[in-house]
Amino acid sequence: MAADRGFLTTSRRCVVAGGGLAGISTALALQDAGLTVTLVERRPFLGGRAYSFVDHETGQEVDNGQHVFLACCTAYRRFLNRLGVTEKTSLQRRLRVPVVGQGGVRSELSGVSWLPAPLHVLPSFLRYKHLSFGERLRTLRVLFGVMRLGREQRRDELERQSFKEWLLKHGEGERAIQRFWNLVAMPTLNDDISAVSAFMGTMVFQEAFFKGRRGAEVGYAKVGLTELISDAAQHALEGGGGRLVLGQGVTGFRLEGDRVRAVELSSGERLEGDVFVSAVPWNALPKLLPEPWPRHLFFSSTEGLEAAPIVGVHIWYDRQVMEDEFLAFLDSPVQWVFNKSAIMGTGGYGQHVCISLSGAWEYASMGKQALRNLFVDEMAKLFPRAREANVERFIVVKQLGATFRSQPGAEALRPGQRTPIANLFLAGDWTQTGWPSTMESAVRSGEQAAQAVAGTLRKAKAVDRPSPTG
Ligand SMILES: Cc1cc2nc3c(=O)[nH]c(=O)nc-3n(C[C@H](O)[C@H](O)[C@H](O)COP(=O)(O)OP(=O)(O)OC[C@H]3O[C@@H](n4cnc5c(N)ncnc54)[C@H](O)[C@@H]3O)c2cc1C
Repeated sequence: MAADRGFLTTSRRCVVAGGGLAGISTALALQDAGLTVTLVERRPFLGGRAYSFVDHETGQEVDNGQHVFLACCTAYRRFLNRLGVTEKTSLQRRLRVPVVGQGGVRSELSGVSWLPAPLHVLPSFLRYKHLSFGERLRTLRVLFGVMRLGREQRRDELERQSFKEWLLKHGEGERAIQRFWNLVAMPTLNDDISAVSAFMGTMVFQEAFFKGRRGAEVGYAKVGLTELISDAAQHALEGGGGRLVLGQGVTGFRLEGDRVRAVELSSGERLEGDVFVSAVPWNALPKLLPEPWPRHLFFSSTEGLEAAPIVGVHIWYDRQVMEDEFLAFLDSPVQWVFNKSAIMGTGGYGQHVCISLSGAWEYASMGKQALRNLFVDEMAKLFPRAREANVERFIVVKQLGATFRSQPGAEALRPGQRTPIANLFLAGDWTQTGWPSTMESAVRSGEQAAQAVAGTLRKAKAVDRPSPTG
């Protein structure tokens, strides 16, 4: 009998609601463990907040926002491998981040292979022209403090203050905060350094620079995100015997006592199961639960989480204006610019660039023409060749709820994967993973949810089995 083959068998049916990276990662992990999985996604494709669309005028794939991962994102990289799409991404073999300041002064943060972490970045940091020599020495001292910091032991204290406050208290200067620390914190945490918690700010530096020589190496997709993730995930799930329901939302979890019996879909279909995983965004989940559960502290605590926008400004020029694959800018509204033609191999005579704007409240509220005036002018100041170039196409992609904010106190609002409802589990970048709102956090949450499911089924099996003494 199936039940005798162990606690994780195909007779155990699992329904996962939400087909972003967290839902896909949960579904694949449970399927790999032997369960029968159904994944339900409201939209007609998988990938959630990491997706792309075809721009009708150029015919090119445009991501909803430039998605970057670092080499330290080990769960996300495993996930790419599991989907068999690592070849469709590129990851630096040596850290190299070109940073351009006022007057076009250019300096690189890079790593060398002949020194162990964290010394591998020291030679480039000592040459970092955007800080004076004295500032560099002071920053090195503070970096050393971050490296030795026991974050978990000091969690409460670090969660009470912003990263900027913490840096100032530790003797860092305003210029170095803007010209070094925020250069890393802003794109990784999608918020200004004065708004993110010291707990998350220090986490980024520890993971990227101190745990290994390769941690901060930069990676991205060479194809549109939907081609990267949706097609491959669909293939992996259905190929492994799972069922995928696309284009239908879960309208509610139906409970009997403290157990979920089924989910109802927008089509009216009812899917019964043994275990259920919600991988929908934090603000979508309470609406799917029957009373009184949305008011239960476990679920209502997420009301305190806030969202932060990302704006992508895409410009197609009639000629090449930049050579690097990406550049970071200080002293300019252009924070980071990506050479999409080079990254995606869509060269030709012209060039498609994407300006990626994090913590972009100011730009999210601006109209398209105002953004065009601002960024086309600014690009002309930064790239001499852009002055002569014609803009053939200009589009803006605004994602208002791109990430949750890692503000002081936010960690306490993130629930774990087990819920007070015995057979309902949570996944999502916003659940307790120790990582900020990233693809890495989403994939980790899925792995953790699958482990929690397995643990619960194992316990249930042990209770069901009669003891040897009868
Ligand atoms: C513009 C932008 C740029 C970003 N840049 C980066 C980056 O550079 N690096 C990085 O690591 N991360 C980046 N992120 C963040 C990253 O995309 C997210 O952290 C990650 O994709 C979240 O995955 P998730 O599965 O947790 O949530 P989501 O992707 O939000 O998935 C939730 C899914 O649930 C579905 N859903 C909702 N309600 C229902 C329902 N009732 N029934 C069924 N399905 C439902 C949604 O349609 C969605 O597919 C960026 C995000 C954006 C928007």
